[in-house]
Amino acid sequence: MIVENNLFDSQMYKEVIKQYEGVADLINLDPNIRERLKLPQRSLVVTFPFRRDEYDEVETVVGYRVQHVLSMGPTKGGIRYSPDVNLGEVTALAILMSWKSAIVGLPYGGAKGGVAIDPNPLTRAEKQRVTRRYTAELIPIIGVNKDIPAPDLGTDEQTMAWIMDTYSNFVGYATPGIVTGKPASIGGSVTRKESTGRGAVAVGVAAMEKIGKTIKNSKVVVQGFGNVGRYAAMAAYEQGAKVIAVNDVDGSIINEKGINIPELFKYTSNNVSVNGFPGAEKLNESILEIDCDVLIPAAVGGVITSSNASKIKAKVLIEGANSPTTLNADKILRENGVLIIPDILANAGGITASYFEWVQNTQNYLWKEAELYEKLIDVMLTAFEEIWTISEKQNCDLRTAALIKGIKRVAAAKLTRGLFP
Ligand code: NAD
Repeated sequence: MIVENNLFDSQMYKEVIKQYEGVADLINLDPNIRERLKLPQRSLVVTFPFRRDEYDEVETVVGYRVQHVLSMGPTKGGIRYSPDVNLGEVTALAILMSWKSAIVGLPYGGAKGGVAIDPNPLTRAEKQRVTRRYTAELIPIIGVNKDIPAPDLGTDEQTMAWIMDTYSNFVGYATPGIVTGKPASIGGSVTRKESTGRGAVAVGVAAMEKIGKTIKNSKVVVQGFGNVGRYAAMAAYEQGAKVIAVNDVDGSIINEKGINIPELFKYTSNNVSVNGFPGAEKLNESILEIDCDVLIPAAVGGVITSSNASKIKAKVLIEGANSPTTLNADKILRENGVLIIPDILANAGGITASYFEWVQNTQNYLWKEAELYEKLIDVMLTAFEEIWTISEKQNCDLRTAALIKGIKRVAAAKLTRGLFP
């Protein structure tokens, strides 16, 4: 059995499967598809040559693209550049994308990709070369109706533009629908880059209301000031929260009176770190453990573990990042009364906005910003209400409730289509 042969082995894969099995037991999942859904339908591992600007030697770089379920439409998921990327992690993330798309009712299966490289020291030219060659390697399995990449950790709008250009040159015509999260000038949606962070705060606020709390005047802490973290911080700030601490890979800052987020946006433009922002002080302790009402991890996975979970003081955790909380930590937090808005719901605004962008590209529509936000918030809040109702009926936490919704929908699609041949 492939799972036992460790082909997809990684801590994240183990966690995702353990979570899945718990829910499969709970909903008596049909045994005929139970094993099937643990494994991706397609996994592509590529290696390619890469030359840095200042050296003559050529490195060999490893990249991946994993497609989990192909039964519900094209597959969809981000591409990350990180030294830790491996097949197991990408597979785990592709599986989570299947549940996530199903939770918000999108016509996609899950996918994920990545290149095992540290994007931080790369020059623009180097990043462009890595992206174009990686894209060329993926061409047999991606396509507007096959598999549509998007940004993730270490990749951005510009990366998507290079993917779109490489693919378009290959097929011979401009193909905006091959990626989402690209710049508006080539068919990107004006709201895509803000949607994950803003969507996360929208469901966080709805969840807080359910337990009699409000975001206004709440103390909010955000880990990571990238694509997700910065717009989550901005949405919280706009709704009257005090965003007291934020960080990035280079350091953390704090201001108990609340950081001026629009000013921090200006300060961090051109990829400058939050470090040294004049409107706050340097924070030396762990940002996750400081006293606050709402904590938004929006950087990397696996940051809340059994070692630090009991030190977390926030009462609401909005998971902007994918898999920021390990299963053991999740249990500790729940025992301590923390309300967790799970990643597969909290950050589903990204894929929802990507879906709008893809529909606009394939249908040649042009929706205005206000229309896009209205649609985004509608999808997110509808999913939240459904998941809240499941959690009440099943007397379970929101993560389990979200997984019940997602897994049931994927399972129904697979069972309805039947077997081939
Ligand atoms: P990004 O690369 O734009 O930003 C990541 C941020 O985290 C940067 O500020 C970086 O400096 C910081 N960071 C990295 N390592 C850190 C560490 N150890 N401690 C503190 N900060 C650290 O990435 P992103 O697109 O914002 O993605 C963040 C997370 O959200 C990832 O887990 C990603 O999978 C998830 N996510 C992103 C989207 C999206 O639309 N971009 C959608 C869904 C989920």
